[in-house]
Formats: sequence, C-alpha cells, structure tokens
Amino acid sequence: MKRRCSIGRASIWPAMRRMDSVSSVAGWGRATSEVWGSLLPPKRPRKTIGLPRFVGCSAGMPADASTDSSAAVGTAAYTRAVTDSPTPGSGNRRPRSATPRSPATRDLGMRATLLFPTREIVEQYYVPLIYTACRTCYSELEPQDIFERATSGRVAAEKQQELVRRVIESGHGSTIEHIVFTFAISGVTRTLSHQLVRHRAGLAFDQQSQRYVKYKEPSYMVPGTVSDADDELRQRFEEQLAGSLEVYEELLEAGIPGEDARFVMPNATRTNLVMTTNLRALIHMSGLRLCTMAQWEIRRLFQLIRHEIFTVSPFLGSFLAPKCVPLGYCDEDRNRDEHCPIRPHKDNVLGAWAEKKAAAKAAGKDLPAKDLPAKDLPAL
Ligand SMILES: Cc1cc2nc3c(=O)[nH]c(=O)nc-3n(C[C@H](O)[C@H](O)[C@H](O)COP(=O)(O)OP(=O)(O)OC[C@H]3O[C@@H](n4cnc5c(N)ncnc54)[C@H](O)[C@@H]3O)c2cc1C
Repeated sequence: MKRRCSIGRASIWPAMRRMDSVSSVAGWGRATSEVWGSLLPPKRPRKTIGLPRFVGCSAGMPADASTDSSAAVGTAAYTRAVTDSPTPGSGNRRPRSATPRSPATRDLGMRATLLFPTREIVEQYYVPLIYTACRTCYSELEPQDIFERATSGRVAAEKQQELVRRVIESGHGSTIEHIVFTFAISGVTRTLSHQLVRHRAGLAFDQQSQRYVKYKEPSYMVPGTVSDADDELRQRFEEQLAGSLEVYEELLEAGIPGEDARFVMPNATRTNLVMTTNLRALIHMSGLRLCTMAQWEIRRLFQLIRHEIFTVSPFLGSFLAPKCVPLGYCDEDRNRDEHCPIRPHKDNVLGAWAEKKAAAKAAGKDLPAKDLPAKDLPAL
C-alpha cells in the first residue's frame, strides 16, 4: 500500500530530521535545508555516532591499512541515531527505517588514491581557477587579471568559495569542468569497472588489459553476503572461483592466447584503472554512486574517492554527496517506502505540499510561490 506523509502527520518529520546531519556538512546542505526549513518542525537534539570501521571479507588480496578510511569518511558525512546502528556482525536485524548499511563496514581490499593534483596545487590554483571562470562571465576584467588577483590573495579565499558555491548550486556546470582529478584505482572487480566505465562525459579511463596481461595469480573478491553465507555454500563459491582460475592457467599453458583464456574469468576478478575526471563529472558520478541504492562495491569506491578529495580540499569534497542532497528529495523508485532516510521521497514531499496547499485554500489563503518547497518541483 502506498504510504503518504503529510504536514499534519508525524511520519515525514523523522526522515527529515535524521538527514539534516548530512546536509549540515555537505557543500550543498545549506540550500537544501533552507528549502525544507518551512516544512520542518523544531529540531530536538540527537545523539550521533560515526560509522563503524569495516571488518575483513576480502579474498585474494591482503587488507591494506590505507583503504581503511571509513572512519574519516563516515564521520565526515554521515551520522545516525545510535539505535539505528547494530554492532557489525552481531546478527541484530536492522530496523527498516535505518540508512542502508554502508559498504564501509567491510574491508573490500580495494584502493583509490588521488595521484594528481597535490594538496598544494589544489589550495593554490583550483578554487582560483573556478573563480576565474565564473568571474570572467560577469566582469570587465580580463581572465589573466582575475586569476592573478585570486591566486595572489587579493580576493579573499572565502569570497572565492562563496561564488564557487553559488555557481555550483545554480548548476552552471562548465565552470567546474576546468579542474581535473586523476585517481589510481586498484583491487576493484570487473563487476565494478563495468559500471564505472559507463560514465562518459568529462572522464578518461585506462584499465589493466586482460588481453595483454597474463595473470600469474589473478585475485578475486568475495562479497560480504557470500562470506557470511553458510560454510558449504561459501566453500562452493570459492571452489568455483579457484576452478575457473585453474582452467585459465591450463589454457595459457596449452598456448591459448590470453585474450581467449580470459573468457573463463569470473566477474569477481580484480582489476586496476586510472581515472581522470573533471569536477562536474565527479559530482555527478558521486551523486549516483554514493546513493544507498547504488551497488555496494562502487558505493565503497566513491566513499574512498570522496575521502581523497576531502584530504586535499574539504570545500570541494563537500560537494560529493548522494544526489538527493542537492535535490532535496529522493527520486529513487525503489525508495518509495523511505527505508533510506537521507531525504524524504518526492512522492511524500509533493503529497505534503498538496495537503498544505489544500489546507491554505480551505482557510481562504493563497500560498505564495516563495513558500514552494523547491523551485524545480513540478507545479501542483
Ligand atoms: C543505481 C544504478 C543502477 C543502474 N542500473 C543499470 C542497469 O541495470 N543497466 C544498465 O545498462 N545501466 C545501469 N546503470 C547505468 C546508468 O544507466 C548510466 O549508464 C550510468 O550511470 C552513467 O550515467 P550517465 O548516463 O549519467 O552518464 P555520464 O557519462 O556520467 O554523463 C553525465 C551526464 O551527461 C549527459 N550526457 C552524457 N552523455 C550524453 C549523451 N550522449 N546525450 C545526452 N546527454 C548526455 C547526461 O545528462 C548525463 O547524466 C545504473 C546506474 C545506477 C547509478
């Protein structure tokens, strides 16, 4: 049965309150919390905790301490009610309303490292570059002068950031295409890489070739659900992987070219990539892949990527958030039941607004347009 929430009913408020903690740290947050502010009841103080550190489940690859950034990532962007967080591995059932469990609770044995730029380059040039692109549109000054003023400190960093924030929030995307980030991504599976390379605009990829690389010891990943499955089932899964790798080796030994032998490799096989992306594409991909509806492995990758960006620029990193954060509502069909509480589902938001509007009409008042919950919601 379709569940609708309304201004008069309590059910929409817990979801909105819970997720205010995300908006308060995200670069987008101020705008979206302002949007929903008029619909929210007064806040009550809430006890929060960071995400638990992840536990091992990888196979075929050693756990690497450098991948264990979950604490930094988790506490930076997500907080949740203590009652929503069972101890990992305790076997407690999560309440249906809790944020879907983060993949950061598992060590997947993957790494994402920002190769370029360094923190110094980002601090010295990246925000000034975007600022120069923005100001060039509205200034009589030449871009050379604007850039010199920005990099020499004649324009305060806060002023530059404020303009950049406004421009990003308004969707003037070309201005943030001028800066790029290059990542080394290793130990991810072919399942992940197939999803990742579907992104086309503003990106470049280079991936380890299964045609030219003859793997001496191909490594693979075991999903957490399989690790946690009963022993016999897990063993069969692992034997299957080991079996296909054995056949791979036999094929190579028999002189079958690597490009043909690889046909036997499973989706669980790990791979390495180099990815360069401009900031616009990175924000877009993060919006899709940090969403709790995204597949767990790619979601974990984007948590690592976000952590890397935060390390060089907390300001730019703050724009990497699930797409519902800038939108102000969730548009995922599979979240109509709001089991993910980051933002209320758009059906409920529109339902709440319709009720508010109807109540105002019944009282003989018209709701002014400025009270609309979001400028981009369809007219009711
Ligand atoms: C949760 C989830 C589930 C998915 N499930 C599936 C699935 O089952 N099957 C499947 O095949 N794929 C699936 N995908 C992949 C998805 O359909 C996209 O191909 C992928 O996310 C790339 O995103 P994008 O289209 O925004 O492309 P990007 O290359 O990241 O492009 C960014 C933006 O640029 C614009 N753009 C890019 N190229 C064009 C173009 N040629 N014309 C016009 N505008 C363009 C669009 O506005 C686009 O949103 C899934 C993705 C997600 C996040």
